[in-house]
Amino acid sequence: MSRTAPFHSINESREGAPRYHTDDTCNQALQIPEQDLRPGSGGYYQCERCAAMHVQPPAEAAGLTPVP
Ligand SMILES: [Zn+2]
Repeated sequence: MSRTAPFHSINESREGAPRYHTDDTCNQALQIPEQDLRPGSGGYYQCERCAAMHVQPPAEAAGLTPVP
């Protein structure tokens, strides 16, 4: 997987619920024709597949260990 800046397809809306992607190996993102790609979220929701690949780390991993 390879995380990228958010991008979306300008033709996403005709395929149902529009989504933006954050990974250039996302199966759905790979189906977007190159001429339809645009940077940014497009005001859409994040693609579930991309979101699952890039789950935010827990607070402990960020060095924010809670005080007992
Ligand atoms: Zn995606």
